[in-house]
Amino acid sequence: MSFEKYYTVFKAYSDIYSNEYKKRIKTLEPLLLKHMTPRGKVLDLACGVGGFSFLLEDLGFDVVALDSSESMLEKARKFAKDKMSRVEFVKGNAENLPFEDNSFEYVIFIDSLVHFEPAELNVVFKETARVLKPGGKFILQFTDLRELLPVLMSGQVVGTEYWISRVLPDPEEKTVVIEFQSENDHFRIRFNVWGRTAVELLAKLYFRQLHSEKLNEHSYFQVYTPK
Ligand code: SAM
Repeated sequence: MSFEKYYTVFKAYSDIYSNEYKKRIKTLEPLLLKHMTPRGKVLDLACGVGGFSFLLEDLGFDVVALDSSESMLEKARKFAKDKMSRVEFVKGNAENLPFEDNSFEYVIFIDSLVHFEPAELNVVFKETARVLKPGGKFILQFTDLRELLPVLMSGQVVGTEYWISRVLPDPEEKTVVIEFQSENDHFRIRFNVWGRTAVELLAKLYFRQLHSEKLNEHSYFQVYTPK
């Protein structure tokens, strides 16, 4: 099953006007403002439907947004039209960025690690360091799925319409298949399991960490600069 179904079902990622999406923006906006000075050119990497691109545009940044999913980009472009936004939405792969070296003051990468296997994330980080200007900032937000796994396995409900009915990690817990169930539907998605330590070890190859903070029990906000 593709991620598209997951994103269609969970408004926190697909509807910028939903309370769930707004809640994510409300949590991150003060942190972005604090760490993104001065204004400059931003790449919203794996932008999804673009909520964070629009936020940064409204705050005075010059934003380019990239995602590999046509259906997410289609939604993003619809929202952009509604909002009369000038954000440029580009279809592309985070592992092979269609941008020159030293193009951006900032790259933001929000809530997207679960899509990438270790070798893939290595290339994404390398590409990110390449397109950032010297002294630029890489802003990373992620859920520590390794920490969250026991909680998920204890059967706690997420969402209102759908709940988690099965959690099936592979023996090494590198990936986990999660089954979502509603009254009349169910689907399964495989996520890559990233823990904070693994993320930091990989990031160390290309970046120096400037800041790290825990947003809530299992989520981190981190700022890096290219080495
Ligand atoms: N950053 C956005 C946000 O916070 O709303 C979107 C997050 S969404 C959870 C993850 C996004 O990563 C999806 O839109 C998906 O299409 C995108 N994605 C997955 N693999 C990708 C890749 N290889 N290159 C670019 N985008 C990718």
